[in-house]
Amino acid sequence: MFLCFDYNIVLYHNKGSDVVMTKWNDLEQKALKIIAGEGEEGVLQSKLWSKMGASSREGSRISIKLEKKGLIHRTRELSNGRWTYRLYSSRKPLSMDSIVGCPCLTCEESILCESEGSVSPNTCEKITEWIHSLLQDADKYSSL
Ligand code: SF4
Repeated sequence: MFLCFDYNIVLYHNKGSDVVMTKWNDLEQKALKIIAGEGEEGVLQSKLWSKMGASSREGSRISIKLEKKGLIHRTRELSNGRWTYRLYSSRKPLSMDSIVGCPCLTCEESILCESEGSVSPNTCEKITEWIHSLLQDADKYSSL
């Protein structure tokens, strides 16, 4: 799944692994940004709606839609004597560990490198090998 907040789109693989592009409405996008900003603590639905200026009915509809898209998950929680939901982003923040070893960080040709250029990640053996090594590591860990 790929999220792009700036362009108001989400790309995700559906059942047949086709890439689907969906436009979000502004409230969904706003909610997702707030939820993602709360990190591992998540956010209570009621707090989210007040931050967004949305009604609880509108907010519930949005959170259900986001959960169906796999962008958030919800857990039931008792707060001030009432049952509600705490919302968590399904996306984990990127860590610096994820780019350690990337050949682009020390590449002498990086200044010339662009997608349609003569030096390009599309044809670069170094980046291809690095990605393959990451995939092999991921396979190793998933089989443990
Ligand atoms: S993609 Fe290849 S050529 Fe481009 S900056 Fe990274 S390592 Fe260098």
